[in-house]
Amino acid sequence: MAEDYIAYEMPAPDIARVVLNRPQARNAQNLAFLYQLDDAFQRAVADDAVKVILLAANGPDFSAGHDLRAGLKQEPTENFRDSTLSGAFSEPGGYGYMAREQEVYLNLCRRWRDISKPTIAEVQGKCIAGGLMLAWVCDLIIAAEDALFLDPAVAMGVSGVEWFAHPWELGPRKAKELLFTGDIWDAQEALRLGMVNHVVPRANMPAFTLALAKRIAQKPSFALRMTKEAINNTLDIQGQRTAMDMAFKIHHLCHYHNRERFGHEGDPAGIPGLKKSD
Ligand code: ZN
Repeated sequence: MAEDYIAYEMPAPDIARVVLNRPQARNAQNLAFLYQLDDAFQRAVADDAVKVILLAANGPDFSAGHDLRAGLKQEPTENFRDSTLSGAFSEPGGYGYMAREQEVYLNLCRRWRDISKPTIAEVQGKCIAGGLMLAWVCDLIIAAEDALFLDPAVAMGVSGVEWFAHPWELGPRKAKELLFTGDIWDAQEALRLGMVNHVVPRANMPAFTLALAKRIAQKPSFALRMTKEAINNTLDIQGQRTAMDMAFKIHHLCHYHNRERFGHEGDPAGIPGLKKSD
């Protein structure tokens, strides 16, 4: 039996709460974790009684990002599904590596951004790199006062995480600064930048988020769905989808360069705990 990385709760009859449940690893995301998350979202979408979906996390931190110790290179290619019929997971070189990252990072995030019901993330503690991706795909984000956000990808020789929403979430100028420096931004800064909707004391966050979800759940589901589509379509018409597709290719140009230069997907100097020989 695979480990249960994701919990599924119903805090109210019309609200599903999907919970990242790998606190001992600070909710680091491996392949099983991401597919279990996708399963949980599918379960919430399939249940017509569910009107709003919450995404929360157990433990001190929302998510430390992708599990670099169990990187995609170690995952057997048959463990990948194919959410957009793109295939090529076992192809050698950059072809297969890009196909695998496209499946589990870009395509799954796009599926989750376009979930047909309102989604609300509850973020506490550290939300790093791949953790940002999970928060950003949600419609609303509630941050605890102790939430800290970071994308350290540039130090690893890569142009930001695979779901390149930074210019949209932070504004282009702060996106450049926070990527160039790898600096942490806190909950208040995220609120000021418009990246999160509310900042609340950590102890109050579940009750605050549930109350907000209950208010939204009272609205007609079809109108909520159409409103979400109208706003997501607006972003797409503004070029978000195309810009993110292009940024993903640039991300893989960086991976390719790093493999040529260092024999590894990232610059070893920027990856904590990774020796040059790895
Ligand atoms: Zn990557």
